[in-house]
Amino acid sequence: MPGTLYIVATPIGNMNDVSARMTSTLQSVDVVFAEDTRVAKSLLHKLDIKVTVKRYDHHSHEKQIRHVLEELEEGHDVAYVSDAGTPGIEDPGGRLVESVARDLPEAPIVPISGPSAIITALSVCGFPADKFNVMGFAPKKKGRQTYFDNVAASTITTVLYESTHRIHKTVDEIASRQPDRKMVIARELTKKFETIMRGTASELVERLATASTKGEFVIVLE
Ligand code: SAM
Repeated sequence: MPGTLYIVATPIGNMNDVSARMTSTLQSVDVVFAEDTRVAKSLLHKLDIKVTVKRYDHHSHEKQIRHVLEELEEGHDVAYVSDAGTPGIEDPGGRLVESVARDLPEAPIVPISGPSAIITALSVCGFPADKFNVMGFAPKKKGRQTYFDNVAASTITTVLYESTHRIHKTVDEIASRQPDRKMVIARELTKKFETIMRGTASELVERLATASTKGEFVIVLE
């Protein structure tokens, strides 16, 4: 019998979002594969869990997928954690699941649900979210204009990720195409400096000029 692969959601900033099921799963597995081993070790340390942590990131997929499959084949239970939130969105979790489902279909793949930056932002955006587009991060160079053209063309609620370094540029790009598009900027969700800004794109360009832009962002457009 192969082991089980657990896809474990982790907090997006607030340790009180750790669930009992997340903890018991991480306690029970034989090995944790992590997008960033330092981040995972810090989480495990806070939870007082001692378990082997191995790297599984975009760069190490080809090499590490064999180790994941070997562990499962030997009957060991494996957990995968991304940097934060629910794996599979803008992290290597999707590729991991794809490979295990294809190459070892008898291994159960179990989601351990929990925080998600996208869903948390959508839950407070106040826009219809029965259907939504997730556009991920804007490309830094190649494809950037097309990306923002596609964002402008999206007629349903649209979600973007952004970092502290490019939040101004990204909101400027959106406002230059659609100054009146309604927007929510969700900063540092679940953390001490959580800030939810609402307005049109052009209003938020002005607000951002004087606001703190440290931290992590999800942008939601109506
Ligand atoms: N798997 C994650 C999820 O749950 O949606 C997202 C992974 S994505 C690579 C990381 C990005 O999510 C960050 O760069 C930031 O844009 C966003 N993010 C993560 N945590 C956040 C938080 N606490 N507040 C706002 N945005 C956050």
